[in-house]
Amino acid sequence: MRKIYFLLLCVVFCWGFTFNWGFFAHKKINRLAVYSLPPEMLIFFKRHIQFITENAVNPDRRRYAVKEEAPRHYIDLEAYGDSAIYNLPRNWEDAVVKYSQDTLYEYGIVPWYIMEMKQKLTKAFRYKNSKGILRISADIGHYIADANVPLHTTINYNGQMTGQRGIHGFWESRLPELYSHQYDFFVGKAQYLEDPQTMIWRAVTQAHLAVDSVLSLERELEKKFSSEKKFSFEQRGATTVKVYSKEYSKAYRQMLKGQVERQMRMAVKMVTDFWYTCWIDAGQPSLLELVDIKFSEQQLEEFERQKEQWRQGRIKSRSHEANEL
Ligand SMILES: [Zn+2]
Repeated sequence: MRKIYFLLLCVVFCWGFTFNWGFFAHKKINRLAVYSLPPEMLIFFKRHIQFITENAVNPDRRRYAVKEEAPRHYIDLEAYGDSAIYNLPRNWEDAVVKYSQDTLYEYGIVPWYIMEMKQKLTKAFRYKNSKGILRISADIGHYIADANVPLHTTINYNGQMTGQRGIHGFWESRLPELYSHQYDFFVGKAQYLEDPQTMIWRAVTQAHLAVDSVLSLERELEKKFSSEKKFSFEQRGATTVKVYSKEYSKAYRQMLKGQVERQMRMAVKMVTDFWYTCWIDAGQPSLLELVDIKFSEQQLEEFERQKEQWRQGRIKSRSHEANEL
């Protein structure tokens, strides 16, 4: 009896907390973005591709330790009325005047925060701050990727208002995990963005316009599947996790007609374009002399300590990830 109870706990726990393959997609997006950079940048980024990849998920880890972190990952557009996406002030200062900083934080700040990160990354390039370049590049890659996820632009972010709890992770984690090896990620060379701010808002608009199909198609699909067929159990190391079944995932993928792939590709393209634009805006500093930088023992220890803090953080954060059911 005890054993069964323990197993049950395991299943519930994994469903609730460790079913987090959003990490998988974030890492993949940052990693792929490196390969579109021009050689002057590639030499540096490729040398540190492991760092850029592994740290693509830092902002998510930080959410549980840093209070201000959570709102940087999303924007609840409905909070601002019907045509919010077209009417919201693009500049942070204007938005603060119109709605107050508290309100903006309440409903998420992702499009504005990416611009702040862009300035920081440009500065890091300008000062040839190699560690800053790496950390901020990894971070901005994460926020850009989030801005391209439809369910990061809506108040109904996990289908909780429409009886679809779990759809967040289904769309952004389960599907890429199952199918991204079949996606076409060729995005060509990084391009300079004349107007990065407009690019961000365009991406958020596109993501938001997709919300309706993300939700309505799954509602339609659900009618055709019994609960036993909709879910299945998979082994993850020593634990059993409840997942959307392969059959159900396949059917949803077909209905979405390449939407996840398109959004992921958009994210890769945007990340590489942003990194490149920051470098150009910084005056194209030579990164050659930075190629061999190494983190000192002390810095690595400090970094690990911070990661541990993030892991153990107890700040209650609204989940915008795979997990909430
Ligand atoms: Zn995130």
